[in-house]
Amino acid sequence: MTKEVNLIDALKRYFGFDKFKGDQEAIIRNVLDGNDTFVLMPTGGGKSLCYQLPSLIMPGTAIVISPLIALMKNQVDVINGMSEGDGVAHYLNSSLNKSAVEQVKSDIRAGKTKLLYVAPESLTKEDNVEFLKTVKISFYAVDEAHCISEWGHDFRPEYRRIRPIISQIGNAPVIALTATATDKVRTDIKRSLGIADAHEFKSSFNRPNLYYEVRPKTKDVDKQIIMFIKQHPGKSGIIYCLARKKVEELAEILKANDIKAAAYHAGLDSSTRSKTQDDFLMENIDVIVATIAFGMGIDKPDVRFVIHYDIPKSLEGYYQETGRAGRDGGEGKCIAFYAKKDLKKLEKFMEGKPVAEQDIGRQLLQETAAYAESSVCRRKMLLHYFGEEYEQDNCGNCDNCKHPKTKIDGKDALLIILKA
Ligand code: ADP
Ligand code: MG
Repeated sequence: MTKEVNLIDALKRYFGFDKFKGDQEAIIRNVLDGNDTFVLMPTGGGKSLCYQLPSLIMPGTAIVISPLIALMKNQVDVINGMSEGDGVAHYLNSSLNKSAVEQVKSDIRAGKTKLLYVAPESLTKEDNVEFLKTVKISFYAVDEAHCISEWGHDFRPEYRRIRPIISQIGNAPVIALTATATDKVRTDIKRSLGIADAHEFKSSFNRPNLYYEVRPKTKDVDKQIIMFIKQHPGKSGIIYCLARKKVEELAEILKANDIKAAAYHAGLDSSTRSKTQDDFLMENIDVIVATIAFGMGIDKPDVRFVIHYDIPKSLEGYYQETGRAGRDGGEGKCIAFYAKKDLKKLEKFMEGKPVAEQDIGRQLLQETAAYAESSVCRRKMLLHYFGEEYEQDNCGNCDNCKHPKTKIDGKDALLIILKA
């Protein structure tokens, strides 16, 4: 059916955009043709449109499986607010009460719903499965598909049940989307969703505007961070720490140094958290000190730095977290502090866990350590991790390329220090 559809027209009419980004058009055509599709695209690349647009064109309702309950309402509101979008999107998740769920179902029965967002735990509910059996489904979109894999950075066991549930409800093409591109995750997704033959669309994961640096974590780390922030006055930044306690301590230290900072972690109540998020977006706060609970779905285009106070648990997570910097294409400085001691601490945390999980955890950690200790171009290493070869020898935008570590004797070192 794709030949007859003028996709640019549809793009303009529904979304008001003039052209497609990257592979969007080819991806959409593949979905319209009824094929299984696998989309690997970095954060901010425009994955949502790859299922939203075909859902509006195809007969029936597309089922969108997404783990981000907090963002579902917002996404649905955006679509319903588009021209010709009124009432075409709904969601089902645990935040809805019984009568709201009934309302959604009756709207779907009335036949206007083109997109239904469902949390995985709602998809597996028997009532909902029975109901969805009666619905004409255009295709299934599995967003944040890396949640299927233990090798990803956000494993959700319910994601493993998606394929069996789809088979119960009724087969239709599947489009899986993720910003996680490691081979292991990719293989897991295909196997678990049973889409071995899916057409794969992979964009480059290079973010040329991001500067990567690893610094040894010395005693004066707090001082270094304060200095860095003072050198970037009024700029938005995120500082990630592993422990909630450290998050709170560091936020206090920054505030005591006249920096507009706030703490964010899952232990704070939800009204405090959403106020902090809003304050950050509105720029009442410059710096958020946070655990990794902060960030998924936060779309602030002009975050200028992301600092890792502690070494992250995996390179995958590191890439996702640093990816929140410079989404507008402008400068984004990504600085990680690394101490061998922290590795030991992280390994200790894993001790109580099942053996298989420990093995995975240790391997991911070793890869992060290798990255931190290497003198090879950081970009090259990160891209290699995602199965992409970076051809240039010098990216010009990481510490190892800007200040190559060469073996020098004492006299040369002194000369370099004197010249600096
Ligand atoms: P992802 O899910 O890949 O992280 P999103 O789907 O959230 O990315 O899209 C990121 C941003 O890009 C959104 O603000 C979206 O409106 C915008 N966008 C998507 N496609 C286009 C396009 N063709 N032209 C302009 N902006 C687009
Ligand atoms: Mg997305």
